[in-house]
Amino acid sequence: KTIDIANPTRTQAILNEYGLRAKKKFGQNFLTDLNVLHGIVAASEITAEDNVIEIGPGIGALTEQLAKSAKKVVAFEIDPQMVAVLSDTLSPYQNIHVIENDILKVNLKQVITEEFGENANVKIVANLPYYITTPILMQLLRADIAWDNIVVMMQREVADRLNAQVGTKEYGVLTLTIQYFATAQLAIKVPATSFNPAPNVDSAVVKLTPLTPDVPVEQPNQLFGVIKGTFSHRRKSLWNNLLQTYGKEAEIKSKLEKALQEANIEPSIRAERLDLTDFTDLYLALRTQKL
Ligand code: SAM
Repeated sequence: KTIDIANPTRTQAILNEYGLRAKKKFGQNFLTDLNVLHGIVAASEITAEDNVIEIGPGIGALTEQLAKSAKKVVAFEIDPQMVAVLSDTLSPYQNIHVIENDILKVNLKQVITEEFGENANVKIVANLPYYITTPILMQLLRADIAWDNIVVMMQREVADRLNAQVGTKEYGVLTLTIQYFATAQLAIKVPATSFNPAPNVDSAVVKLTPLTPDVPVEQPNQLFGVIKGTFSHRRKSLWNNLLQTYGKEAEIKSKLEKALQEANIEPSIRAERLDLTDFTDLYLALRTQKL
């Protein structure tokens, strides 16, 4: 009977066997704590009917636990050396498909159709590579796919940004994107000692649950274009950021003034003072002005 991959001794033995060391440039910190992995599987409420997507399987510690509970797991790994290890460590499991690719280059909607069927619901689980936590979250939320929940390990500092209050330095594009699509809940606090090697930051498992947007806009990507533009120079006023985005011509200035008036927003305010409702109002008013 083989022991779980998520075990300090077995993890080190696998790395030794392949002559590998965790690569910093790929954010490799392998989970060796089975309790944390069970906690992740429990938080995502995976059943034998579930299709699961995993990001960054590494040597397979989490993948193995997911495969035991789910119908099928599709995992994206960028590092070819890890993919080679996985074909060995995960060989006892028939319901796993490892795809060697950069998650940020994957068309998730298309892969879901191919792997699980058109518009199939998925659960997304990962011990994220921390150097790209934010871009991955943004991609998942904006991919227009049907997800039941997203349960991901990230550095605690980023977890704090997800529910940041308006006006704080943690508040920003990520907070607003999360708020539009989901509710975020801190599921597990994880100490550095649960990994090999131990990361030099604290970690947390966060659970995202999808939300039907309060204020539906037809094109969320355009709303996020507006939000991103107004945050591009955080210390500058909303007005200056808008001029930067749309231009400084007299005609544009007058349209921007009308839009701000309609949305009932002070031009001199900074973006970090605006909540999601303000941004939605602003977006709709800009559209009325054909901007
Ligand atoms: N899931 C494993 C575990 O929990 O032990 C490994 C997690 S490790 C924190 C992050 C993993 O993501 C590594 O295996 C790394 O090679 C992989 N990775 C890094 N960048 C990636 C990318 N852009 N696309 C896919 N995988 C990536």
